Amino acid sequence: MIPYLDLKSLHLEMKADLEKAISRVLTSGWYIQGEACEAFEKEWAAYCGVAYSVGCGNGLDALRLVLEAWKIQGRVEVGDHVLVPSNTYIATWLAVTQAGLVPVPVEPDEVSCLVTAEQFQKALTPRTKILLPVYLYGRISDMEDIMELARQKQLLVLSDAAQAHGASRKNKKAGAWAHAEAFSFYPGKNLGALGDGGAVCSDDPDLIRLVKILGNYGSEKKYHNLYQGLNSRLDELQAAILRVKLPFLDAWNQERSRLASLYLTGISNPLITLPLKAEAGVSVWHIFQVQSLYRDELQAYLQGRGISTVIHYPIPPFLQPAYQQEFSGKKFPLSEKIHAQTLSLPLYPGLSDSDVAEIIHALNDFIPKEK
Ligand SMILES: *Cc1c(COP(=O)(O)O)cnc(C)c1O
Repeated sequence: MIPYLDLKSLHLEMKADLEKAISRVLTSGWYIQGEACEAFEKEWAAYCGVAYSVGCGNGLDALRLVLEAWKIQGRVEVGDHVLVPSNTYIATWLAVTQAGLVPVPVEPDEVSCLVTAEQFQKALTPRTKILLPVYLYGRISDMEDIMELARQKQLLVLSDAAQAHGASRKNKKAGAWAHAEAFSFYPGKNLGALGDGGAVCSDDPDLIRLVKILGNYGSEKKYHNLYQGLNSRLDELQAAILRVKLPFLDAWNQERSRLASLYLTGISNPLITLPLKAEAGVSVWHIFQVQSLYRDELQAYLQGRGISTVIHYPIPPFLQPAYQQEFSGKKFPLSEKIHAQTLSLPLYPGLSDSDVAEIIHALNDFIPKEK
């Protein structure tokens, strides 16, 4: 069986270094907000080319903490609108609604599956205060134009960069484009911990300070609480593990990109639509998704040929029971089409060329029964 993702092999290759890092934390006697976290925050900011980064518990909290901080700064108020992609992982939306803000879904570009500056512009409402682009599948959005739109309309931009560690556009990395950008270090991400983790990147020192305070019960000084904060911190073990893995990120992303090119040149079945090609670095191929009208049959067929795939994501946020009340009867046909047709192929550093060849072969052989 070719797995969709194999994290175990990757981690076993670096087992000695990971164990050394874990052991150092273990014997340090300090497990939350210590040296490892501080060092990782500096290294992550330097890697992204941004002034500051602050660790937190996960990607959802990274998004939420920025929104909470902007509320405290008086830059947004409860009830203000945030433009979000209609097709994204639900975390993007949850951060918005948890902060008491209103998600306004925007349909993406049909080819890239990303929301463009033009689509954001068309969707603006009188209460729009924030644009929230998502670098879906690992591809950076058209951030020059999105930031220019934000400048003209005096809007804030928060990017969901949870799938795009190391992606870059015009030599500027994910993390460095928007007023704030949120990362997740969930194990399966391009840079993943051995558990949950997240970070916020920004050039704004006041925002970073507030995010740090809000993630620590709203306190800067122990047992003195300035705000009703959350408990959302990057623990020392995860930070130490991320520090071991970060130096490999670029090489892993290059390998992902090489594997993606093999798919892009090898898959020739007209019933399978390939994702948009990317200039070097613009996508780090967190997900290689193809689309097909026969998606479910294709997935079962691949499974039968020993190939695991995943659907990112089967149900868009507005059709989830969680958002039934707010969005029942609303229509976002493009998002629905993507969710109905998308299928993610195996792609990870360590996937062999012969496995990729086998997957391409199977895809090119596929003929649906129901056609
Ligand atoms: C993974 C992911 C998140 C959430 O990250 P967690 O660390 O799991 O909370 C948010 N947005 C997108 C697009 C993601 O892929």
